[in-house]
Amino acid sequence: MFDRLRAFHRPTTVAQALRLFEAERRRGGRGGWVAGGTDLVVQRDRTLRYLIDLTRLPLGYVRRVRGGWAIGATTRMADVEHSRQLLAFANGILPEAAGTCGSQQIRNMATVGGNLANASPACDLAPPLLALDAVVVVAGRGGRRTVPLERFFRGVNRTVLSGGLLVEIVVPAPPKAAKAAWSYQKLGRLQSDIAVVNAAAGVALDAHGTCTWARIALGAVAPTPLRARRAEALLEGRVLDRAVVDAAAEQAAAEAKPVTDLRGTAEYRRAMCRVLVARALAECAHRAGRSL
Ligand SMILES: Cc1cc2nc3c(=O)[nH]c(=O)nc-3n(C[C@H](O)[C@H](O)[C@H](O)COP(=O)(O)OP(=O)(O)OC[C@H]3O[C@@H](n4cnc5c(N)ncnc54)[C@H](O)[C@@H]3O)c2cc1C
Repeated sequence: MFDRLRAFHRPTTVAQALRLFEAERRRGGRGGWVAGGTDLVVQRDRTLRYLIDLTRLPLGYVRRVRGGWAIGATTRMADVEHSRQLLAFANGILPEAAGTCGSQQIRNMATVGGNLANASPACDLAPPLLALDAVVVVAGRGGRRTVPLERFFRGVNRTVLSGGLLVEIVVPAPPKAAKAAWSYQKLGRLQSDIAVVNAAAGVALDAHGTCTWARIALGAVAPTPLRARRAEALLEGRVLDRAVVDAAAEQAAAEAKPVTDLRGTAEYRRAMCRVLVARALAECAHRAGRSL
């Protein structure tokens, strides 16, 4: 399907990749970045005239930064799934989510950067990264800029990148609290299928079980992954009990804007959104040592 490509570049540095992109842009014709190719190949876009392969760039890493983590854009899903550092961070929700991305063969090729840059509303890494307040680092003609993940997605398969190269995802240090816990939930036809609905939650509790910080992130229920901010506000300042969990889940479902497609109806998605958020919050409570 790439039989109409006139160029396939394999840069080894970010600077070289950006120079190649700029040269191709001046030359004209459609093209862009390719990492694992697991989204791009399936899209079968025969108008592409050049591709710049990212897999030789030195961007496959998980590194400690100021109490949080930096994840290079070409880190493969399989590497996140098995990362010992990330398994020990935030209840391991990033490895858990990465581990549900397709089959083992897909995860061996698929990258973290490709998962976000492709901007599927159902992508597996967006909800946990949103619940962790992640930011992305984008390199382009004007240098490097940092964008909160919440502002990165612009619509179905649309981001703020506009030709920029996603270089790194930075997950900041978790909030300081007596207890903090996270959970990732996914509903698919099979666990490894693309999500019908997915959700992630994070809470920080003080010594009395009062929620001092909350994050609820939803996937596959709107054109972009999103935070359910009003549901988060319902949790903050309240003791995390069953009634509060149920109210927040109800509110999160009200903030969803699902559509009907071949994977599920809008009504089903909204109902499952409520169920998944309730499960996520209940799991957070359990992990923080509270029984509901
Ligand atoms: C059978 C199958 C099952 C799948 N199951 C799931 C699933 O369960 N969950 C899920 O979330 N996804 C799933 N996917 C989708 C896909 O595997 C993931 O989204 C994957 O992470 C994409 O990464 P990639 O490196 O292969 O991206 P590519 O296909 O290489 O690129 C995807 C898009 O992102 C752009 N891009 C890639 N890297 C960058 C970068 N660093 N900077 C800027 N732009 C970039 C490319 O130009 C392209 O437009 C599945 C795909 C298949 C084929």
